[in-house]
Amino acid sequence: MDELRREVCALHAELPRNRLVAWTSGNLSARAGDAMVIKPSGVPYPELTPESMVVCDLYGDPVEGSLAPSSDAATHGYVYRALPDVGAIVHTHSPYATAWAIRGEPIPCVMTAMADEFGGEIPVAPFALIGDEEIGRLIVETLAEHRSRAVLMRSHGVFTLGETPRDAVKRAVMCEDAARTVHLARMLGPLEPLPAGDVDALYDRYQNVYGQH
Ligand SMILES: [Zn+2]
Repeated sequence: MDELRREVCALHAELPRNRLVAWTSGNLSARAGDAMVIKPSGVPYPELTPESMVVCDLYGDPVEGSLAPSSDAATHGYVYRALPDVGAIVHTHSPYATAWAIRGEPIPCVMTAMADEFGGEIPVAPFALIGDEEIGRLIVETLAEHRSRAVLMRSHGVFTLGETPRDAVKRAVMCEDAARTVHLARMLGPLEPLPAGDVDALYDRYQNVYGQH
């Protein structure tokens, strides 16, 4: 558990470094068996330490640590309970992705990097208030129909899921990058989605062949 606290704390630094969060917004959690390690609520990123990370059960109730967990803890817990293959979750209000979320528009799959990483569009889940499991339920429901492990929450921000904390952080960075680039392309004129067969081929290659094996 100490090792996981260290890893989750260290990866939190990637969120401000990649300009995905402002002030104390956003959070990262990682599953640890039938518990999770998550950011404490309202603590600025430079002040986070491994000891300040909160251990919660999968209903978002703290079991270790003296600080209150992120207000999204119940949502993270819901996703871990519903999706056993998910090992980590990142939440941000990164500006370009959130702009699409405010519009309630999915980010269309119009470039190879999106097909690679997300296997199609990045969908939008309906609006929900923060604080209980409702956001978690909508994340699971919306992603059930998509290969994407990133989802925009209407008028709110982004959640990304990963097998490991690093996967989930990478997806948060890639989602913001895609949101920005597709936004710029749309300013230049109408967009044309990639053909489904090409998306499938790109996704398959990236997931199974690309990188060091
Ligand atoms: Zn939020």
